Amino acid sequence: MSYLVLSRKYRPQIFDDVLGQIHITQVLKNAIEEKRIGHAYLFSGPRGTGKTTTARIFAKALNCAKGPAGTPCNECINCKEITDGTSIDVIELDGASNRGIDEIRALRENVRFTPASSKYKIYVIDEAHQITDPAFNALLKTLEEPPEHIVFILATTEPQKIPLTISSRCQRFRFRPISTNEIISQIEKITKLEKFNIEKDAMTLTAQTANGSLRDSLSTLDQIVSFSPDKTITRDTVRTILGLSPLESISAYIEFILNKDGKGILKHIYQITEEGYDLTQFVHDLREQLRRLVFTKYGSENLAADAYLSEEIKLLNKYKDRFEIPELIRVLQMLNHCIEEMRWSDNSRLVFELYSLKILESTVNIQELITKLDKVADSRHSGSADSRHSAEVGSVRGSEDNVASTTPATVQAQPKPILQENPDFKTKWELILNEIIKKKPSAGHILQEAQAQMSSPTEITLSLQGTFQYDIVIKNLQMVNELVKRHFNEKTKVICTVSQKKLQPDVQEVVVEEDLTPADDARGADKDNVVLETEPPEEDVTTDAGLKKIMESFSGKIVKNK
Ligand SMILES: [Zn+2]
Repeated sequence: MSYLVLSRKYRPQIFDDVLGQIHITQVLKNAIEEKRIGHAYLFSGPRGTGKTTTARIFAKALNCAKGPAGTPCNECINCKEITDGTSIDVIELDGASNRGIDEIRALRENVRFTPASSKYKIYVIDEAHQITDPAFNALLKTLEEPPEHIVFILATTEPQKIPLTISSRCQRFRFRPISTNEIISQIEKITKLEKFNIEKDAMTLTAQTANGSLRDSLSTLDQIVSFSPDKTITRDTVRTILGLSPLESISAYIEFILNKDGKGILKHIYQITEEGYDLTQFVHDLREQLRRLVFTKYGSENLAADAYLSEEIKLLNKYKDRFEIPELIRVLQMLNHCIEEMRWSDNSRLVFELYSLKILESTVNIQELITKLDKVADSRHSGSADSRHSAEVGSVRGSEDNVASTTPATVQAQPKPILQENPDFKTKWELILNEIIKKKPSAGHILQEAQAQMSSPTEITLSLQGTFQYDIVIKNLQMVNELVKRHFNEKTKVICTVSQKKLQPDVQEVVVEEDLTPADDARGADKDNVVLETEPPEEDVTTDAGLKKIMESFSGKIVKNK
């Protein structure tokens, strides 16, 4: 006898055997027993969750010679024919291949005839969302005035694609994904009957990869058994056959992320490919482990609806305290994008490499960052009195023309400090600062640090700490001036100056004298005096007090000075 695939061999024949859908099977069973039978049903839900199986049991329950009965006998000729798919009164159509108007018209013609040997004529339309709109319209006419003996069962994975006019005329049932634990229990039952020798972890792994589809898990089992002649199934057999990444490999990758080891991560990706593992599968597996880590961090492992392998629990315990939740979320989002891009790329390995490096790029502990920023803010605050003083001493005042340009002012002029004598100015200026901080915190905080003075009845002079601060304020000058006009008067405006500003040196000439050995004389004769032109050195931003503190706090260095 030819091998019958497990999903068919163990297909449930009564409602009570349908796995994980008791909320549906119980209702259908009761409806039949109470003879409340509708003319149209819509079964929706992920694939492999029992929609077609339930439709067949429903058909049997209706047409059973001893029925209609909540539990079909499975022995009468009607039941047997339906099980074998040979009943002329139960018509199974595939929406994908019977989607056109002609097929539906033929169906409508057929509907008029009474069933040949049963009580009901039952149409099961699988993948019903594939039916075209004109065909749906034709079907609608039948659903509006269905003959007494007709029952339609539409099954679909995409109920949102069924027109409302159709679905509103159906009794709707939503099939849910089957939980990993339910699938495991089913695998356990079947493997016992089949006398397979299967490890517990192998069952878990098979169930995990099925994504809530019992049929998929049984197909996997079929596949594994065909590779295991002695009917022994280990965790490693399942991993190998499904091409799953070893957990050690995932664990190693996570270590590289935590250690920000770019070289290590690239080498690791190379090894995964060399060992013949599928990179896309690896990213999927990695994402799944990190997702579970999120659940573990929230203390809601059970919500993942998964059973974990013992080695997975070890991995989760190892990493749960080494990641912050925001960081995990960020990495997961990047892996999502990565998987999406890998799908369409002609070089999925490159995509993964780039995303891996991107993940490393900004792995910063947010809490650490906040603490450091607080420290910087504190130290800047306590040091502000000193910097005010030095700002006053070294302040330079710009001419009006310079205000709008981005070149810091260089004209020397000492504004008269009126701040102290004018409490009204202080109040107004603080109001302005508060508004700016709300709108543009970066500019606002710089202005807070700046020395502000009413240098003339229509001028407020700001003495800023450096060119960096100057540039930020200039960029926001329009907003500042608008507020100043509102709080003071139409004629008042702001003049920006920089308290410490080094003039950039012109092109430097550097004379290099070389010690030439006699042998070099011939070739190097005219190199005795070499004049090199060098780029003007960049302005030394490290003299900026605030910047210096930030650099110290983060042990940073200037990479680019814009
Ligand atoms: Zn029967």
